[in-house]
Amino acid sequence: MVLGSPESCSDPVRCSSLLKDDVLLDAPAQDTSSMEDFIHQSMAVVLEEAVKKATDVREKVCEWRPPEELMELLDLELRDKGESDSKILERCRDAIKYSVKATHPRFFNQLFAGMEPYSLAASFITEALKPSLYTYEVAPVFTLTEDAVLRKMREMIGWEEGGDGIFNAGGSMSNMYAINLARHRQCPNIKEHGSSAAPPLVLFTSQECHYSISKAAALMGIGTKNVYAVPSDDRGKMVPSALQEQIQTAKSKGEVPFMVNATAGTTVLGAFDPLDAIADVCEKHDLWLHVDVIDSVSWNPHKMLMVCLQCSAFLVRDMTSLLQRSHSARASYLFQQDKFYDVSYDTGDKSVQCSRKPDAFKLWLMWKALGSRELEQRVDRALAMARYFAEEIKKREGFRLVMEPEFENICFWYIPPSLRNLPDGPEFWKKLHNVAPVIKERMMKTGSMMIGYQPHGDKPNFFRMVVISPQVSRQDLDFVLEEMHHLGQDL
Ligand SMILES: *Cc1c(COP(=O)(O)O)cnc(C)c1O
Repeated sequence: MVLGSPESCSDPVRCSSLLKDDVLLDAPAQDTSSMEDFIHQSMAVVLEEAVKKATDVREKVCEWRPPEELMELLDLELRDKGESDSKILERCRDAIKYSVKATHPRFFNQLFAGMEPYSLAASFITEALKPSLYTYEVAPVFTLTEDAVLRKMREMIGWEEGGDGIFNAGGSMSNMYAINLARHRQCPNIKEHGSSAAPPLVLFTSQECHYSISKAAALMGIGTKNVYAVPSDDRGKMVPSALQEQIQTAKSKGEVPFMVNATAGTTVLGAFDPLDAIADVCEKHDLWLHVDVIDSVSWNPHKMLMVCLQCSAFLVRDMTSLLQRSHSARASYLFQQDKFYDVSYDTGDKSVQCSRKPDAFKLWLMWKALGSRELEQRVDRALAMARYFAEEIKKREGFRLVMEPEFENICFWYIPPSLRNLPDGPEFWKKLHNVAPVIKERMMKTGSMMIGYQPHGDKPNFFRMVVISPQVSRQDLDFVLEEMHHLGQDL
C-alpha cells in the first residue's frame, strides 16, 4: 500500500513509501557510509595486526591459551542484540591476537607458511565480490582465469596436448576426484546403480601416503580395507616390486584393481615414490595412476607456492570429458543448454561442489605478478634453506637426522644432554620419545616458534621441520636449533 495522501502526511519520504507486513520496502536497510567506514577500519586492523605484526619476527608465533581460558576471553555467546562497531573491531583484534600466525617466519609446523601478498589481495577481491564458479554467467573473469591457470599447470606437467582439471577445496578432495575418475573409467555403471553394480574394487597406495586416500575410500563406499598399503623402503619410497606382488595377490583373490596412488613428497618424510617404475607396473596392468604424469595429478599451490589457503588443483590428462561424465548432475536451473553464450565455459558440473570459490584467481594474480621464473627461484631458495638446516643438524651436538632429507621436510631428533651418553638401546629410544612433546609444549607456551612432531613406524617421536617459505632466513633456522636446545636442555 502507499501510505497516506499528501494532505494527511507530514513526512514526505515515509508517505510515498511502500509498506508490506510493517516493513518499509523503499529505503536500503543498511547505511552505506557506515558499512564503508567499518570495512575501512577493519582493513586497517587486518593490515596492522594480521599482516605486519603477524609476520614480524620480533612478535610471537602464537599466543597460547587453553580452550576454557580462551572461551572466556573471547566471550563466545551469541545474543539477541548486536554490538557496536568499536566493540566488533576489538573482537577482530582479539581474533587475530589469539590465532596462530602461519605467516610468521618461525612457523614450521605445517606444509604451508609465508605471507603471499598478491594472493592475499586476490582473496580480498573474490571475498568482496562473492562469486561462485559454476557458470560463466555468474563468474566470467574467474572462469577464464581458472581455465588459464589449469592450462598452464598442465603444460608444466608436460601435457601439451591438452586435458582437463578443476580447482577445489584441498588436496584431499583432489585425491578423491582421482579415485572417482579412475573408478568411473573402470565401472561407469556405479554412477547410476551404486557400488552393488561393481566387482570388488581395490586400489593401491604406499604405506606413507596421505590419510586422505583412506578417507576417500571410506566416503566413496570402496572401503578402507580395499586400500592396499604397499610397503615402502627405509627412505619412505614405495617399492615397485611389492606393488607388483600385491596387484597379483589381489587379482588371484578375484578382486579388481583399478588405481595406484603415488606420492611426490610424502607428508612426514617428504619422500618421492619412484614414479617411472610405478608407471611401468600400472601400464602392464592397465591401472589408473594418480600423481605422476600418466593419468592425473593433485597439485596444491597453497603449500609450496604459498598461495593463501585454499588453492588446490586436480589435473587430469583425459580428453574425453571424464571429469564431467563422472560428476555431472545437469542441474537445469544452472546449466541450461540453450544459453546465449558458449556453455562449454560453464564448468561447474565437473565439480562435486555446487558453490565453489575462485581459488585459481589467487594463483593467477600471483603468477602474473611474479612470473614463472620468480616462482621457481622461490622454491629453489626454500630448498636451499632446507639443505642448510640439515647440514647444521649434522654439525651440532645433540641433534640427529632421522634420515637424509630429499625435499623440504627435515626430520630430526633433539637429544638433551642427559641422554647423550646413553647407549643406543630401547631405554634411550623410550626416553627420547618423551622429549619432543615436552619441547613442543614449551615452544607453544613461549610462542617462540612452531614445529610439528610425530612418531613414525618404529621411530620414536621426532620433529618434522618444514622449510617451504622463501621468506625464512638463515637466522630463523639457526634460531630454531638454539631455541630447541634452550627449551630442552634440562630434560
Ligand atoms: C597436504 C597433503 C594432502 C592434503 O591436502 P589438503 O589440501 O590439506 O587437503 C594430500 N597429500 C599430500 C601428499 C599432502 O602433502
